[in-house]
Amino acid sequence: MRKSQLFAGCRLDRAAQLRRDAAWVAAMMEDEKSCFLPVWRNLNLVEDGNRLMQVAGTPLRRLLSGSAERVLLGVEDEQAFFAIDLSMMNERDAQAVAGNGEFCDLRRVGGVMNATEAALAAYARASLRWHRYSRFCGHCGAATVSQHGGQQRLCSNSDCARQLFPRTDPAVIMLVVRPADDHSPARCLLANHHRSPSGSYSTLAGFVEPGESLEDAVVREVREEVGLALEGVSYRGSQPWPFPGAIMLGFHATTMQSDLAIDSDELADADWFSAAELEEFGEWGETGAARRLPPHDSIARDLIETWRRQVIDAGEHRRSPAGD
Ligand SMILES: [Zn+2]
Repeated sequence: MRKSQLFAGCRLDRAAQLRRDAAWVAAMMEDEKSCFLPVWRNLNLVEDGNRLMQVAGTPLRRLLSGSAERVLLGVEDEQAFFAIDLSMMNERDAQAVAGNGEFCDLRRVGGVMNATEAALAAYARASLRWHRYSRFCGHCGAATVSQHGGQQRLCSNSDCARQLFPRTDPAVIMLVVRPADDHSPARCLLANHHRSPSGSYSTLAGFVEPGESLEDAVVREVREEVGLALEGVSYRGSQPWPFPGAIMLGFHATTMQSDLAIDSDELADADWFSAAELEEFGEWGETGAARRLPPHDSIARDLIETWRRQVIDAGEHRRSPAGD
């Protein structure tokens, strides 16, 4: 990967040792330098449309005196960063805390935030969601309590005492590629998913299932969605994807087959495109283009651009069908 993906690269020291000291965490919560980032029902607080906003003053003191879940995200330059969950509030009360800010879907605003704040917002959103959905022990049903500044939860039933750790769900995302041959240039497979806007073409993707390696999941997803058998799978990089709590693991997947059996329940369209044909695609959000590529800050786009550069460097984009 050439660059850090959107939502990756959070610079905070997660303070694995310090956060085990409850007194230190409590002191950080009282520290005037500490920064508190609210999340309300998966929406991050944003000001001016693109800047992560913290809550301070009287609204913060009121929150800290209540039961709102708070998670120590980490420390940078002796400043502690906490995420604080406002989800139990109704919309009016949450908006009163927000002041001039607006609770925004990170999927919508992440691309216009600076990279550091986007990563912090993703971390806060994913952490608080995990806490909100982990309030009871899945084994015995007793309430769980947050520990170590939110790095884990503990079942309150002493006979059970299960520890729960924040989880992230692995999803594979893959660009299927077909090398050049005597009949056609190198091509990649892009699909328009039913859940995406019409004209938006991207890579295939899917969740890893129990009992699968990442490579197994790539092979299965490609077979299920477009009916292709793969020759090889190579890892290219990853991106945190907090919608709601996944990590995208990116691959190039090579096939020698070209006939597609498209799963119409998942995909509205899928087809092969050469590097030259990709030049005709518009950018994400462009209204005029018949087909559009994923956003530049997505791992899907990075998989496409990495392949495109490889093909151009190898001169495979110039090969034309036999007889030309
Ligand atoms: Zn339990």
